[in-house]
Amino acid sequence: MRKTALPSGPTITPMEKVRIVLVETSHSGNIGAVARAMKNMGLANLWLVKPGSFPDEASYARSSGASDVLDRAHVVDTLDEAIADCVLVMGTSARGRKVPWPVIPPPDAAAKTYAHTEQGTVALVFGRENHGLSNDELQRCHFHIHIPSNPDYSSLNLAMAVQVICYELRMVHLEQHAGADKSPELRPMTSPLDTGWDRPLAKVSDLEGFFHHLENVLVDLEFHRRDKPRQLMTRLRRLFQRAQPDEMEINILRGILTSVEKASGDNVRRPEQMGKRSGEAKAIVSDDEGPPDA
Ligand code: SAH
Repeated sequence: MRKTALPSGPTITPMEKVRIVLVETSHSGNIGAVARAMKNMGLANLWLVKPGSFPDEASYARSSGASDVLDRAHVVDTLDEAIADCVLVMGTSARGRKVPWPVIPPPDAAAKTYAHTEQGTVALVFGRENHGLSNDELQRCHFHIHIPSNPDYSSLNLAMAVQVICYELRMVHLEQHAGADKSPELRPMTSPLDTGWDRPLAKVSDLEGFFHHLENVLVDLEFHRRDKPRQLMTRLRRLFQRAQPDEMEINILRGILTSVEKASGDNVRRPEQMGKRSGEAKAIVSDDEGPPDA
């Protein structure tokens, strides 16, 4: 007999299996700010243990467009209820405790959290604004996360601590979903090596043509002497190669050189002016360079 496939329910994504738990938050505005921080980073699963006041106007006002996270928030009486069904619990703290616990930095905590979502729900627990999590509460956690803040002023605002941890999680999420190729969101936006650059990068031959042209113009201007080159062309080569110009930029530079050539036609015939200029050039490049082409 053929079995009919059971309709599969909606897939729960790893990020949905991460639960942010706030313990006894006294200012409801902070709960709203946490909801916003979570939603910015793609998280929505918020549990509140005995909040001072919730739901209220201040929490919704601070949540900005993340009111849906607040609408779905679970409110419970104890931390135990908030973490009972979790496979891994990480507590966050600004301070070390008498009996040291395994402490992991935020990026490692995010990687571990993400990996454990394959097994079930992971709770990330945050403490009260005034005195954090109690020792008892921290001892319910498998690991402690410490954000390596200034030791003389280590305690972050609650929502900012949530933001830092959720950001690390998002980085892991983007890395995991990018496959072999880096996620576009993780690529630096302005790198000329970015495939999104508007012009192709200049080829070596374009650059060599430019350097040759530049050197000729500098010689014509008596800014540069081939028999006494110092390190001028080396330094200019390093400057332009560092910029990784594209084809259009090289064309512009070549155009400028051509204009300089045209405009300096007169000057070349006026050696008294050029002599002055070449004197300046010598002063600029001759000081510290040692023997030519050393
Ligand atoms: N005064 C409290 C800190 C409260 S800050 C104390 O001394 O413990 C509110 C919450 O933000 C903390 O309970 C913790 O969950 C989180 N938090 C703030 N700074 C943090 C840090 N440097 N590392 C990890 N969590 C931090």
